[in-house]
Amino acid sequence: MPDFQSLYAQLFEKLGEIVDIRHTLALMQWDQEVCMPQKGAFARGLQLATLAGLEHRLFTDAEMRSLIDTLRGHTEALSPEQAALVRETAHDLDRGIKIPESLVRLFAEAQSRAYEEWVEARRTSDFRRFQPHLKTMVDLSREKAEFLGYEESPYDALLDEYERGMTATKLRPIFDALAGRQSALVARIAESPYQPDVSWLDQAWNESAQLCFCEEVLRDMGYDFGAGRQDISVHPFTTTFDVQDVRITTRINPRDFLSALSSSIHEGGHALYEQGLPAAFRRTPLADAPSLGLHESQSRFWENIIGRSHPFFRRYLPRLRELFPGQLDEATSTDLYRAANRVAPSLIRVDADECTYNLHVILRFEIETALIEGSIRAEHVPELWNAKMKVYLGVDVPDDAHGCLQDIHWAHGSFGYFPTYALGNLYSAQLTEQARKDIPDFWNTVEKGSFSELLLWLREHVHRHGRMKNSAEIIQDATGSPPSPEPFLRYLEEKYAVLYPAQPQSV
Ligand code: ZN
Repeated sequence: MPDFQSLYAQLFEKLGEIVDIRHTLALMQWDQEVCMPQKGAFARGLQLATLAGLEHRLFTDAEMRSLIDTLRGHTEALSPEQAALVRETAHDLDRGIKIPESLVRLFAEAQSRAYEEWVEARRTSDFRRFQPHLKTMVDLSREKAEFLGYEESPYDALLDEYERGMTATKLRPIFDALAGRQSALVARIAESPYQPDVSWLDQAWNESAQLCFCEEVLRDMGYDFGAGRQDISVHPFTTTFDVQDVRITTRINPRDFLSALSSSIHEGGHALYEQGLPAAFRRTPLADAPSLGLHESQSRFWENIIGRSHPFFRRYLPRLRELFPGQLDEATSTDLYRAANRVAPSLIRVDADECTYNLHVILRFEIETALIEGSIRAEHVPELWNAKMKVYLGVDVPDDAHGCLQDIHWAHGSFGYFPTYALGNLYSAQLTEQARKDIPDFWNTVEKGSFSELLLWLREHVHRHGRMKNSAEIIQDATGSPPSPEPFLRYLEEKYAVLYPAQPQSV
């Protein structure tokens, strides 16, 4: 009988080396986005490819396979946490092994060609230039799905990579409920006589004061600057090299201080999750989120539910007046609150407000499932896109750059990624309903800028579990109910009935 504890120790050790390489890759990517001189790109590409190859080889080698094969059959000899680490590693390994290396290479090559063509196609708004590459990415993704295996739809095999256990069949009724009620809400908002005047926002906002304010809010949220830092980048992101080194970036809009604020708070929400992952399992796959949807729930909780609340602006208006002398003397907390929550159906997903955001996701979900299931072809995408934009958002798409070419995901072959954004919204509202029951003083703590109780609640119910449980289990255990769209719809309908009343009333 082998000594399972010593085999487990070997696995733990080996995973540590592999995760070190993954984090080194992340560090090199962070450097590429934040500091690297432009001419470093060529060598950086080679360095990243070399390390990624090394990581893949170590993770799928004979030693790893034999350790996992032995341990997965004897989890009764391990603690529940140890068994979870074996289970999660086995899951990743099975996925890694199922796809032949030839397909991995083909996919990577096609991805980089598709990306280059997408950049040009978007710049010139020329879908036909991207169309053959979209077709290739769809074909390769379908091939990938066949290797991975699925029960109902090949789309499920792809979605599973981002949201374990989720399927197109489970998503459809959720998205139908969202589409119906959110479209109706957007129509009611458009008819409200109370459209906010946000012209006061269009001023020059000192950039270092903006950064300073973002850092103060991050500190108040509980983001540990001793275990992280904030920099500037074109696209804001969060990256992790360890639970004690979680970095974020933001971007500054000199004419709209709310833009950097929401980026910083959003990434700060992701970063708080990463800083709160189980430290005992650092350097292993367990110190990670079980799904992108759950990760996104943390960023959206802080960005939208807290950072776009009225108590939040009541708290921070005096400080904003100090940082931007003379610029906010006339503005009230209500003005800030209404400006941060203005609703306007628009063409671009990343600029969308809370009421319309999911509609952008649902449109993409419907198109990408049809592509992967083979009921439409790449050439049909622009027409379908524009028709759905009209139905869901009532807007006319002027060109493909502002339509089906706006996102990078399909050029990357990331089919199944979009739904996680909407799921993040749903999870965040469901967690909030429960947190408000558990913390009766919820909005008072926000108005005091004292977020430690909220953070502790999230640490206890979400962060500390890492991948010990999947996202549905985490939601169920935290709230007593399975994931549902109802709390999010309730949250939206209540909040926006006050912001956009049909009849005169005070906000
Ligand atoms: Zn995010």
